[in-house]
Amino acid sequence: MKIYLDNAATTPLDKQVFEAMTPYLLEYFGNPSSLHQHGRLVKKAIESARSTIATLLNAAPNEIIFTSGGTEADNTAILSAVRSQGIQRVITTPFEHHAVLHTLKLLEKNNEIKLDILDVDSPGNIDLQQLQLLLELHGPSLVSIMHANNEIGNLNNIELIGDICKSYGAVFHSDTVQTMGHYRHDLQKLNTHFLAASAHKFHGPKGIGFIYCNNDIKLSRLLHGGGQERQLRAGTENIHGIIGMAKALEIAYNNIDEHQQYIQSLKDRMIAKLSNQIEGVTFNGNSANAAKSLYTVLSVSLPQNATDQDLLQFLDNNQISVSGGSACSSGNASHVLKAIGHDPLKDTVRFSFSKFNTTNEIDFVVDKLTELYNSIAA
Ligand code: PLP
Repeated sequence: MKIYLDNAATTPLDKQVFEAMTPYLLEYFGNPSSLHQHGRLVKKAIESARSTIATLLNAAPNEIIFTSGGTEADNTAILSAVRSQGIQRVITTPFEHHAVLHTLKLLEKNNEIKLDILDVDSPGNIDLQQLQLLLELHGPSLVSIMHANNEIGNLNNIELIGDICKSYGAVFHSDTVQTMGHYRHDLQKLNTHFLAASAHKFHGPKGIGFIYCNNDIKLSRLLHGGGQERQLRAGTENIHGIIGMAKALEIAYNNIDEHQQYIQSLKDRMIAKLSNQIEGVTFNGNSANAAKSLYTVLSVSLPQNATDQDLLQFLDNNQISVSGGSACSSGNASHVLKAIGHDPLKDTVRFSFSKFNTTNEIDFVVDKLTELYNSIAA
């Protein structure tokens, strides 16, 4: 049995999404910028996909701009705030994705911004008093805080953070790559200027995402060239990707409560079984706290094993796909685990679940791990 528990890295494409996409690869291949019927038909489909996404998020269609994924959306949001709004102070957290952190560090290095990184406690909770203090002290700022962390699953209260930002007149960007399609985002209620999303994290295709850019703020273009996306993002549109992403988000929203409940039950089962069967197992950050963590992610620390067996290799040998930290930083020490003072001697495994996982898979994985740990103890 091949088991895939790395859904925070990417999710399998939903078959219905694939079916919605294929006509736009085979039949409707026109360039949406072309004025003839082949182009017009595709342009109409893109605008319909945009409206679908906007309606699900309670946003206006012109607030959704298609990008190549989460990385481009994060980069665009940050560069827009700095270059269009003239913002020179940025506040963020130590456990943002590198799409945010590396962009901000580069701007800092180029003396375009002054960067403040908020303190976090050992489970990874952000110091919101410090956020308020910095906003009071520094005036016009960009706050970039992710909704859920991709390695440990910590959920941040972006409703509250958005309200704080609003009260200080700050620009707020939230990387919602891990939560889009997993939680409802109501953009009439959430005080945010930017959100970043990536379709392959919610059973859509890879290489497509979007940035939500509130109509109150101006987007600065990252790519220069053609006039696509109302001059905001040059380059011929990824039509089948856009169609697939809208379909994937629609499916996600149609079943959001049911899927949340089901996936949370898989996670709870894994937490209970691991705690019962393996001595010394701990859960990183707020990972085991249902109210404070993303239900699709469980970050586990296991005691150092007495054999030379690499834990991830052991799982891979048993046809179980998981990550150590995040897929993008595999091989490097995790900046997220460092930020929460994680014991580097402990092995960390990130299990991440989807609607396609089963209780049998959870049981199989925990039993395999138990075998390994029992064999060490014996
Ligand atoms: N932000 C977060 C929180 C992520 O988890 C990821 C991908 O893992 C990204 C941004 C980047 O998304 P993409 O790889 O689709 O560009």
